[in-house]
Amino acid sequence: MRQSELFPKTLKEAPKGAESVNHKLLVRAGFVDQMMAGSWTLMPMGKKVVNKINKIISEELNKIGAQEILMPLMHPKNIWNETGRWDKADEIMYKLTDARKRDFALSFTHEEIFLDLARKHVFSYQDLPLALYHFSTKFRNELRAKSGVLRGREFMMKDLYSIHASQDDLDEYYWKVAEAYKNIFACIGFDMHVVEAGGGVFTEGITHEMQVFADSGEDFVYYCDKCDWAQNKEIFKLKEGGVCPKCKEGIIGSSKSIEVGNIFRFGTSYSEKMNFTYTDENGYKKYPYLGSYGIGTTRTMGAWVEVSHDERGIIWSPEISPFAVHLIDLPGGRGQAIYDSLIELGVEVLWDDRQTGAGEKFADADLIGIPVRLVSSEKTGEKYEWKMRNSDGTEYLDLEQVLNKLK
Ligand SMILES: [Zn+2]
Repeated sequence: MRQSELFPKTLKEAPKGAESVNHKLLVRAGFVDQMMAGSWTLMPMGKKVVNKINKIISEELNKIGAQEILMPLMHPKNIWNETGRWDKADEIMYKLTDARKRDFALSFTHEEIFLDLARKHVFSYQDLPLALYHFSTKFRNELRAKSGVLRGREFMMKDLYSIHASQDDLDEYYWKVAEAYKNIFACIGFDMHVVEAGGGVFTEGITHEMQVFADSGEDFVYYCDKCDWAQNKEIFKLKEGGVCPKCKEGIIGSSKSIEVGNIFRFGTSYSEKMNFTYTDENGYKKYPYLGSYGIGTTRTMGAWVEVSHDERGIIWSPEISPFAVHLIDLPGGRGQAIYDSLIELGVEVLWDDRQTGAGEKFADADLIGIPVRLVSSEKTGEKYEWKMRNSDGTEYLDLEQVLNKLK
């Protein structure tokens, strides 16, 4: 991609009213644009990042037998009434009425919609377990729609739903999803913690949140410094500085954090309310056990920026960076030659071919945050200056060395 053609141009200043780091940097670097509070356009580079996050998620979920679908976003009132959530979730649900006075909700989650779908196709124990997921927009009536893309009224989410013939089978799958989530966030590069939590409007049972420690986070987590024990503020009843209840060795500390995902077990409560049964091995009608598992994908992009940036800009991990290489062409450089070679090899490269000064090009490269910066100029001659975004060291490599290093 030629940077002279990239939409949009970078901004020198953060937009007025932007408080969080992800808001300032993602807007300045051209990854997102705010239409109104809590409502964002993903610009081309932002879309690339979210696509990469989604691909990592898909690969891990496919490994545990989940299948991708796409469910509608506007739902009739009667389905939400079956579980009582039309009224119970009133505060966060956007509702609308059409010209014929029919009531609809905009999706804030999909448990009821998934169960309505499943009960039309699942009749026998042989049809279970079933796990389906989709990537789609969620709408939530957020009173405080700030913190950049971390807290939106409309945002992108991956949600997975599973149904099972027994609590044991649901439990087993629940922990498989937790493992898949660990793999997803480790692959992106996060230090992610699985934290015990309450269920909010979703369930009365214990749930788990995927939390990334960050000073700018709105959540607060207590954790053991020796083992994987962790609880969020809402359910924590022990004492900070006390001994860990799980390993009896570690000390309980605390951290601000950002929630990037969550997992829930509903048991049979929703399928009972929705009168969804299947026939078991002995011919009896049974209610399936439901699990629900979400990852905020635009939020994951925002969370990454919160934990990985410096005073000059974003520092992407190679796995979710919009490009693998930022090629800076300066007067006397040989940008075209290496650009063509990289494209031929399938390397994603952003080529700064603009007629602007070196200072502006370097500042933009730091702001955008692509992991590898290559400079070609009169000074570098036949070679290229290689620099990683997360280090100050540079080295001079010829074309072959560059290509080898990128492999
Ligand atoms: Zn412990």
